[in-house]
Amino acid sequence: MQRAYNFNAGPSALPLEVLNRAQAELLNFKGTGMSVMELSHRSKEYDQVHQQAISDLRSLLRIPDDYHVLFLQGGASLQFSMIPMNFLTPGKTADYILTGSWSQKALDEANKHGETHVLATSKEEKYSYIPEIDVTNHSINSAYVHITSNNTIYGTQWETYPTYENVPLIADMSSDILSREININQFDMIYAGAQKNLGPSGVTVAIIKDSLLKQGNSNLPTMLDYNTHVKSNSLYNTPPTFSIYMLSLVLDWVKQQGGVPAIEAKNNEKAALLYNTIDDSDGFYKAHAKTGSRSIMNVSYTLPNEELTKKFLTQAKEKGFIGLNGHRSIGGCRASIYNAVPYESVEALASFMEVFKSEN
Ligand SMILES: *Cc1c(COP(=O)(O)O)cnc(C)c1O
Repeated sequence: MQRAYNFNAGPSALPLEVLNRAQAELLNFKGTGMSVMELSHRSKEYDQVHQQAISDLRSLLRIPDDYHVLFLQGGASLQFSMIPMNFLTPGKTADYILTGSWSQKALDEANKHGETHVLATSKEEKYSYIPEIDVTNHSINSAYVHITSNNTIYGTQWETYPTYENVPLIADMSSDILSREININQFDMIYAGAQKNLGPSGVTVAIIKDSLLKQGNSNLPTMLDYNTHVKSNSLYNTPPTFSIYMLSLVLDWVKQQGGVPAIEAKNNEKAALLYNTIDDSDGFYKAHAKTGSRSIMNVSYTLPNEELTKKFLTQAKEKGFIGLNGHRSIGGCRASIYNAVPYESVEALASFMEVFKSEN
């Protein structure tokens, strides 16, 4: 069997070990004679999967006890709305830092709920860098500061996070959660759609500090109130059981790889290989992101012209490289090299890029 060199931006590659295990357990999960998809979400077998996923995420990310771990639906996109609904309380202003299309979408939703303010943006330079942040600059009555830790489309990533005094920090980590070590204490909330680094689509992870939760709005629609999901351990209604099961397998795989530090080292190697190929190409390939803001998850780059870009993408496809088209908003190429993308795939891509350059 030939596995594709999968560089999709999301949904994206899953570890082969995880897929094999899901296949082996598909028809008869732990002697139940049923697949996980067929189990009641109130059964003890499913409950074990659910609890294991929560406790593995807690230990891998070193999440302190005063944070809640939730499994939600509606993607990261629903969080763009739920965050202002829950935390943009009357009389407050929500601060946003704009580093790409996803943070812009988050801001657009917040604008429907209350006052917002843009603290910084790199839009005028096509989101090619993460702006310098002065942490004394925020709204007087700030509800929170929202950032996007990794900009999936533009290929930029925060190197160090801002630390505000007395203002909650909320981060959309959809495309880099679990890719490198972070200090959860720097954040009051982190959220991520699973389909980039955590598993298949269908589940969104939210990690919320209890003190932030306590400041929230009340009287919200039941499903849109974080308290509902906290009180019921994300089992208020039927959760996406199969996605959570797959997430638990991915977390187990991360543990077997040596946890987040080992994954981070591997990710740095993969990213260095691609950026070196780009930087050593005498300007044939150019990274979209400026040095200092380069993402280790999404490498967005361009070729000298439109014609060569098309030729590159066509030949890449013939050679089995999937998902290298840049996002329609910036064009060019993008290689998404999430946790589950093997080093060998990146090596194959780097060699292909070198050959293509010398032939063109
Ligand atoms: C993919 C992505 C989203 C959107 O996620 P959905 O789960 O499709 O709603 C939001 N933010 C970032 C940073 C992303 O990469």
